[in-house]
Amino acid sequence: MDEFSRLVQLLSGSRRLVAFTGAGMSTESGIPDYRSPGGVWSRFRPPVLQEFLADRKARERYWRFYAETFPAFQEARPNPGHRALGRLHAEGRLAAVITQNIDGLHARGGVPAQDVLELHGGVFASACLSCGEHEARTADLLERFLADGQPPACPRCQGPLKPRTVSFGQSLDGELLERAASLAAQADLMLVMGSSLAVTPAAQLPEITLAAGGGLIILNRDPTHLDSRADLVLRTPAGETLARAVEALLGGSDD
Ligand SMILES: [Zn+2]
Repeated sequence: MDEFSRLVQLLSGSRRLVAFTGAGMSTESGIPDYRSPGGVWSRFRPPVLQEFLADRKARERYWRFYAETFPAFQEARPNPGHRALGRLHAEGRLAAVITQNIDGLHARGGVPAQDVLELHGGVFASACLSCGEHEARTADLLERFLADGQPPACPRCQGPLKPRTVSFGQSLDGELLERAASLAAQADLMLVMGSSLAVTPAAQLPEITLAAGGGLIILNRDPTHLDSRADLVLRTPAGETLARAVEALLGGSDD
């Protein structure tokens, strides 16, 4: 059996599938992998959270970075891989998506928001880091920032506003991580898409699935430390490959 048929067979046999997605999934929607060498982050040197809180210049630099990168998020559309996951969910074949991505594309691809665990947060909503009460649309804050050059501040307490993404130096949401670990433990198959599984603790989730006796599929361009323990590894574009597999499994899509 070739690798593609094996992929379809494994997906077909799964009763409790969980997907884990990383930057490679979003690059297929035109979102650059900011953290890769030579990416925008390496030019801007993103502030760690402590610096963001303490230093106005760091906040200004951060919002300038956002002004440059945010349009890519606004213009991005779900790709065939996102829609394939949406179809699997609609058919009752996918329990949840755990993602390192901050682009909101899984929900737009058809997986209901409550079944998408965004471990690193999302770019579209911002919140006050001091009072935690005030929320705003990142797009509105950016518009004002571009007009007056002032890093956005909370109208209630003057604390700094920041997109709801997990920054360097900021820990992941413990409750969310616990839910992800429990999903990983219950999964009979974990489908890794577009992640090199290099960032801990999120990247340890597939190991939880393996330890609990579940299977593992890795669709990723680069090797990962779990390749030797996976049931199947395909070094092809993750979204495109899954879309073909889901078509083979469920028949052609309507759109
Ligand atoms: Zn506030």
